[in-house]
Amino acid sequence: MKRMLWVYDCTKYVQSLFFPPTCLLCGAPGADGLDLCPGCLRSLPWNHACCTRCAAPLAPAASGICGQCLKHPPAFDAALTPLLYRPPLDWLLQGYKFNRRLAPGRLLSGLLERHLVRHLDAVPDLILPVPLHPARLRERGYNQALELARPLARALEVPLAAGLARRIRATATQSLLPAEERRRNVRGAFELARPLRARHVAIVDDVVATGSTVGELARLLRRAGAERVDVWAVARAGRS
Ligand SMILES: [Zn+2]
Ligand SMILES: [Zn+2]
Repeated sequence: MKRMLWVYDCTKYVQSLFFPPTCLLCGAPGADGLDLCPGCLRSLPWNHACCTRCAAPLAPAASGICGQCLKHPPAFDAALTPLLYRPPLDWLLQGYKFNRRLAPGRLLSGLLERHLVRHLDAVPDLILPVPLHPARLRERGYNQALELARPLARALEVPLAAGLARRIRATATQSLLPAEERRRNVRGAFELARPLRARHVAIVDDVVATGSTVGELARLLRRAGAERVDVWAVARAGRS
């Protein structure tokens, strides 16, 4: 495994020689191996003041658990989402999701990885990307959650369970629905393809909107025996 990581680091180094990191937002040289310059990195919309359970943004001086989690705790234990779904994150994520632009993908997984390295209190047994419905996968050509999860699994040396969960129902586009309908919309949307052999699972997605999609997947994992479920995503949207 050490040798694999060494080869991986060397590959990254060689890539950085031929494709030096360049800021995707202003074109200046990138820093720390990220395609972002130090100024643009600082000015990103960081999700600092957020609920410790679902990562929903809180009022600037607030801390702890949000009112929604106190009333209806989600099926997952904690969500780690470094950024807010605001400009320029919408632009970066949309470019990655719908046009398969590789540089934003590398940047977004790099930002999530840096956040996890700083905030992770326990490494999970398994990483599970949120699956796309097969029809959506055919249309788009790839699953952005899986592409984000791949380098994280490699860096943390945790198995990636790409085919463990399946989306069995094509759901209406979540972003068009109010929060309560989103929960109903994803009920029973997933199933497990095989028994779960992990106690601690981390679900990976690109954006957490209300938490209903990852919440539904977490419910399924809990029913299958998971003792701890975390959610990792690049960005968190506010409540609608
Ligand atoms: Zn810049
Ligand atoms: Zn919360």
